[in-house]
Amino acid sequence: MDYFEYRSGELFAEGVPIRRIAREVGTPAYVYSLATLRRHFRVFDQAFAQLSHLVCFSMKANSNLAVLRAFVKEGGGFDIVSAGELFRALKAGAEPKKIVFSGVGKKKQEIEYALSAGILMFNVESEQELALLNEIARGAGKKAPISLRVNPDVDPKTHPYISTGMKKNKFGIDVQRSLEVYKRALSFSHLEVVGVDCHIGSQLTTIPPFVDALSRVKVFVEALRKEGACIRYLDLGGGLGIRYKDEEPPHPEEYAGALIQGLEGLDVTLILEPGRVIVGNAGILVTEVLYLKETDEKKFVVVDGGMNDLIRPALYGSYQGIRPVVERKGEMIVADVVGPICESGDFFAKDRQIPRPQPGDLLAVMSAGAYGFTMSSNYNSHPKAAEVLVDGENFDVVRARENLEDLIKGEVIPPALQ
Ligand SMILES: *Cc1c(COP(=O)(O)O)cnc(C)c1O
Repeated sequence: MDYFEYRSGELFAEGVPIRRIAREVGTPAYVYSLATLRRHFRVFDQAFAQLSHLVCFSMKANSNLAVLRAFVKEGGGFDIVSAGELFRALKAGAEPKKIVFSGVGKKKQEIEYALSAGILMFNVESEQELALLNEIARGAGKKAPISLRVNPDVDPKTHPYISTGMKKNKFGIDVQRSLEVYKRALSFSHLEVVGVDCHIGSQLTTIPPFVDALSRVKVFVEALRKEGACIRYLDLGGGLGIRYKDEEPPHPEEYAGALIQGLEGLDVTLILEPGRVIVGNAGILVTEVLYLKETDEKKFVVVDGGMNDLIRPALYGSYQGIRPVVERKGEMIVADVVGPICESGDFFAKDRQIPRPQPGDLLAVMSAGAYGFTMSSNYNSHPKAAEVLVDGENFDVVRARENLEDLIKGEVIPPALQ
C-alpha cells in the first residue's frame, strides 16, 4: 500500500497535490512519500518480530540522505557496497554496528574506511578479498568481522541482469568451495568469522528460491560452529519483489513466515537487506509533456525526463506505470512515452494506452522509488532531477535540482589549450 492517490481527479502524494510540487520545484522531479517509506519499513521489520533480526536497507536502491535518515529513525541499518555509501550512511546518522558491506570489488581504501568506522561485518566475495582484508586489519591492529557471501546456485527466476546467486554470476563464492574457503578464513589471524551471507537476486516474485537458498547456506552455520567459529549472523540478502504491473509478489509476512520456518532451531541473528520492496512504490518520477509527435505508424509522447533520470526501462526493458497527474477524460491513444535523450532506448513506456496528453501536462512515472535516482546520470548533459520528500501536508526538497555549473564541476581546460 502507498500514499499516492487521486483526489477529485488529481494525483496527490499524501496531502500534497503533485501539481503543486511540479509548479514549485519544476520537472523532472522524484517525489517520495515519507508515510509510505515508514509503512513499508515497519511492515517488513515487524514481519520478523519474533526473531532476533536486523533490517539493513540496501542503500543502492535509494541513497538520498533524508530517506536514509527516516530508516535510521526506525532503527534500521544499511547494506552498503562502496565507501560513498558508507559516507552517506554515516552522514545520515547510522550506527556503524548496523552496517554490512557487500560487493565484489571493494578497494583497499574502502576496506580501510569501513574498518576504521567499525562496521558490523564485511560480506566477503572472494579469496583474494579475504587475504587483503586480513592484511589491512593486521596493519590497523584490528580483527575484521566477516561473513562469506556464498553463491548458492539457485535460480531466482528474475531478469538475468538482476540475478546474482547462480553459478554463472560474478557474485559470492561457489557453494561447493565455500566450506574450504571458510576454513581458510578461520586460519587468518586478523579475521573473525561471524556470519554466513547470500543474496540471490532482485525483484523475486516467488518464495521457493529464497527457501532453497536458505537451506543451502544454513548448513554452513552448523559446520562452522563445529570448526569452532562463533557464528552469530545469517544474512539472507534482499530481493523481495514489488508490483510494477501485474506481478503478485509475496507479502513480507509470507516471506518472513517461510524464512522463519526454514530457520527453525538455528540460533542466529537474521540479517535482511531489502531495497526495492521498501522504497520502490514509495516514489514517483514527475515529468512534463513537451510534445506529442504523431506519424502514420506511431505516436510519441515526448517528456522532459529520460533514461538519464530513470534507466530501468532502457536497461531491463522493465515496465513502469504511467499516470496523468490530472486525470483527463476523452480520447485514449496508444503511444511510446519517450525522453529527450538521443538514444532509441530512451523510453519510459512502449505502445502504452494513455489519455491523449497536451504539451504542459504532467505525467507520473510510478514505482520509481528504487533504482531510480541512484542510477541516474548526466548523459546528454542534463542536470540531475530534484528529489522531494512529502510528509503529510508538507514537502521538502531533499536534493536540489542540479544546475549548469554542477555539470562541469571538477572539469579543467589544461593550460596548453587555453
Ligand atoms: C542489491 C542488493 C540488495 C537489495 O536488493 P533488492 O532487490 O533491492 O531488495 C541486497 N543485498 C545485496 C548484496 C545487493 O547487492
